Amino acid sequence: MSVSPSPTPEWLLPPDDANALAAGVWPASARRDDEGVLHIAGVSATQLRHRFGTPLYVVDEAEVRAHAQRTLAAFRSAVEPHGVQARVYYAGKAFLCSEVVRWVTAEGMALDVCSGGELALALAAGADPARLGFHGNNKSVVELENAVDVGVGSIVIDSWMELDRLTGIVQRGSRTQAVLVRVNSGVHAETHEFLATAHEDQKFGFTLDEAPDVVARIRETAGLFFVGLHCHIGSQIFGTAGFQESAARIVEVHAALLSGGDIPVLNLGGGFGIAYTSADDPTPIEALATGIVEAVARECELRSIPMPNLAFEPGRAIVGQAGVTLYEVGTTKAVEIGDGDRRLYVSVDGGMSDNARPALYGADFSARIASRVSDEPPALVRVVGKHCESGDIVVDADYLPGDVFAGDLLAVPATGAYCFSLASNYNYVPRPPVVAVHDGVARVIVRAVTIDDLLAHDAGLDAEPSTPGEGDRFETTEGAAG
Ligand SMILES: *Cc1c(COP(=O)(O)O)cnc(C)c1O
Repeated sequence: MSVSPSPTPEWLLPPDDANALAAGVWPASARRDDEGVLHIAGVSATQLRHRFGTPLYVVDEAEVRAHAQRTLAAFRSAVEPHGVQARVYYAGKAFLCSEVVRWVTAEGMALDVCSGGELALALAAGADPARLGFHGNNKSVVELENAVDVGVGSIVIDSWMELDRLTGIVQRGSRTQAVLVRVNSGVHAETHEFLATAHEDQKFGFTLDEAPDVVARIRETAGLFFVGLHCHIGSQIFGTAGFQESAARIVEVHAALLSGGDIPVLNLGGGFGIAYTSADDPTPIEALATGIVEAVARECELRSIPMPNLAFEPGRAIVGQAGVTLYEVGTTKAVEIGDGDRRLYVSVDGGMSDNARPALYGADFSARIASRVSDEPPALVRVVGKHCESGDIVVDADYLPGDVFAGDLLAVPATGAYCFSLASNYNYVPRPPVVAVHDGVARVIVRAVTIDDLLAHDAGLDAEPSTPGEGDRFETTEGAAG
C-alpha cells in the first residue's frame, strides 16, 4: 500500500514497455499519436496543456456514458429472468457536477446524494427529484426538510434520531415520504477480502437486530412509507463473495419483515471495484451483477418469499476509468534506498490537493509520460506532489522511462472517482478545472479555483476592512471570562 518497506510492492513488475497504456486502466479512447503524444477522445494531451494548463482533470464523456450503459444493462439482464426490476443509482459523491448528472441521468440512471450541497447541485442540474436517493448518517433538520419539500424519491434512514426528525417533518407538513432503512450487515469488504462479524464497528446504519423495531415504527408512522432495507458493504470490492454473504444476512431480515407488509425494494449499495494499475483485475460488472442477483434469488427461494426489486449504487465503477489527471514534471531527484537500489522521485505541479486517495487510503495509481515516448530503460519512480507533507504521494511506485525530466507532461489514469470530489486547496494550491473531452472537442465543465478565488475568501483582504460593530460583540456571563 502506501510507503512500502521494500522498494517495490510485490505486484509491481518492470514493464516490457514503460510507455504502454494498460487496457482497463485508461479510457478506451486513450492512444498515442505518431509523435508518441497521448490522446484521449481524440484530444491531445499537449494541446490540453497548452489551452488549460496543468494540473488538469480530464474526463472522457463517452467513457462515463459507456460505463453507465453497461452497468444498467448488466443489472437489468441479471434481474430479468426473475421478473423483477433493477434500479441503478449513480453515487454522486464519486464525482458530482452538472454535466456528469446530465450524462448519467440521460443514460437512465437514478442518482444518490448525501448532503444538502449534493442535493442542491443535482436539482440545479435538472435531475428529477423523484429519482434521487438521499443518504448520510447526519442529515440536518434543514437538509431533511428541504429533501421532503422538493420531493426526493427516497430518504435512507440511518439512526433513531433521524427517524424522529423525519417523522416530525412529514407530520408538520402533512407530507408522505418513502424511506429505506440502512442496515449494517456485519460484512465489510475491501478489494479482495471481506470481513464478516456480528456487528460492524462503524458509524453507518442500524444493526440487523434493530431493523424490525425500526421498520415497525416506520410502518406505524403516518407520512412515512417503508420501501425496503439498504446496505452498502464497502468500496473498491473485487469478487462477489462479500456481496453474497451480506445479501444472505439481509434477505433473512427482509423475509421476517414481510409479515408486516409488502417490501418493494432491496438496495444493496455500490462498491464495485475498478483497475487502478495493470495488476488490478476487477470482476466484470456483468459477472458481479449476475453473482449478486443470483445470490439474492437463492436466498428468497430458500425462504419461499417473492424476489424484491433490486437497487444498486455504483459510483467509482461509472466514472473512475473515465478520468485522467495531467501534470507537468517540475523536478526529479534520485534517492538511494539501500542495497544499491535507487528510486527516482518525480515531483509534479499538483498532488494531495487534487488526489487525496494515496494519502487517505494508501491507494495505488500508475503514471505515464503523456508528451512523448522514450526507449530509455524503465526506472523505478515515485510521483509526488508539491505539498509540504512527505505523504504527498500521487503514485507510490511505478516504472517510467529513465529519462523522465522537468517539463514532461505526466498522465495519471483512473482518477475519475474520488479525486475531484476529495480535492482541497491545501497550501493555497489552486484547484484544477475539469475538462470534458468528446469526439476531438475539449470544454471546461468545472472551472478552476484560482489563487484569486482563494484570496477573495479572505475577509482581511477586503478593500475596506470591516470594523467590529455592536452586532459582532457577544455577551459574556459575568465571571465566565478569563
Ligand atoms: C460511497 C457509497 C456508494 C458508492 O460507492 P462506490 O465504491 O463508489 O461504488 C454507494 N452507496 C453508498 C451508501 C455509499 O456511501
